[in-house]
Amino acid sequence: MRRRIAVVGSGPAGLTFARVLHRHGHPVAVFERDPAPDARPPGGTLDLHEALGQLALDKAGLLAEFRALSRPEGQAMRILDTEGTVLRDWRPRPEDRAHPEIDRGQLRDLLLGPLGVQWGRGVSRVVPGADGVLVHFEDGRQDTFDLVVGADGAWSRVRSAVSSVTPHYTGVTSIETSLDDVDTRHPGLARLIGDGSLAVYGVNRALVAQRNSGGHVKVYAQFRAPLDGHRDPDPADAEAVRSGLLALFDGWADPVLDLIRHGDTFVHRPLHVLPVSHTWAHVPGVTLLGDAAHLMPPLGAGANLAMLEGAELAESVATGSEDLDETVRAFEERMWARAGRWAEITTAGLERLVGPDPAEALALFDQVQPS
Ligand SMILES: Cc1cc2nc3c(=O)[nH]c(=O)nc-3n(C[C@H](O)[C@H](O)[C@H](O)COP(=O)(O)OP(=O)(O)OC[C@H]3O[C@@H](n4cnc5c(N)ncnc54)[C@H](O)[C@@H]3O)c2cc1C
Repeated sequence: MRRRIAVVGSGPAGLTFARVLHRHGHPVAVFERDPAPDARPPGGTLDLHEALGQLALDKAGLLAEFRALSRPEGQAMRILDTEGTVLRDWRPRPEDRAHPEIDRGQLRDLLLGPLGVQWGRGVSRVVPGADGVLVHFEDGRQDTFDLVVGADGAWSRVRSAVSSVTPHYTGVTSIETSLDDVDTRHPGLARLIGDGSLAVYGVNRALVAQRNSGGHVKVYAQFRAPLDGHRDPDPADAEAVRSGLLALFDGWADPVLDLIRHGDTFVHRPLHVLPVSHTWAHVPGVTLLGDAAHLMPPLGAGANLAMLEGAELAESVATGSEDLDETVRAFEERMWARAGRWAEITTAGLERLVGPDPAEALALFDQVQPS
């Protein structure tokens, strides 16, 4: 008997889950709050690891298309000190495919393919019951499913059906800005950034620039601040935010500060996380994937885990035992163990990268980067 399955959210977790089910010929309803795929800027670039995000794409039958779109040269990483001296300048070998970069928008379109996402269908809450799980939508409608998968990100509405835990602030805020057409408009900065990422670590603050495709660069200014500190100056006042950031990074090398001087708009992202080992007592008919299950510091793992979880759960549902509840329970155990390890690594990583001793950031790079 075909089970009625719904996934809430069309981020990396939800789309990978739906795409793998689709590959197995299993119907799935995908509900997304955004009114259209391009309703919001898609965000920056993601590096997809061979054993995580790329494995998920393989399970979806999309690895070859990913290889054609992704940027292996984007794995390059340069680290400067605050005076602008190059401390590390790591470049991948031509055949290196360990974690190539892809624009988030390209990944979304790749995963979307033939999927029929129901846009503008925000979910307000889900209520498990004896006859299935009742999904309440923000537009007042309701529907019932055998399995509802919450892939609705950091501020998940599905989460409260299984857990009372909510995200807490890490103490680190990231302010994001962008540069367009960097190779022609800012050739000096283009050379400084190189093919991949540039990072500069200071005391309790860092500046990271990442090249996306088409000469687009995303810049992240990260620093320790109280949670409400990011409201002053007004985030909508770009010039005030720019001056505030230039004051915060005062004394850093001029070319590095140009990343802030030439940025267009500024987006504030106080970094929130769920507790490192977030688990819950299994609830029949409801589960979580990705950030909804294990929001962690943005250090290159979140989307990768979200995608692999989506692919694994879909495979288990499509090919596993008749007992759907047992299938989901076994999946959750596997997800919690793996996500817990990554949450520990990224939590410790954030402490070192935006911490009191910039030498710690360099040591961390040397630890994880192949020579
Ligand atoms: C600046 C930054 C850089 C990052 N870089 C990387 C990286 O290089 N590599 C990496 O692996 N990870 C990275 N991450 C982490 C990564 O972005 C997340 O872990 C990943 O997007 C999680 O995917 P998800 O599908 O679980 O959630 P999301 O991507 O948050 O998707 C959730 C979806 O659900 C929708 N939604 C939300 N609420 C509802 C609702 N009530 N009803 C219906 N739909 C809803 C949202 O609109 C959204 O489309 C980064 C994060 C940040 C902030």
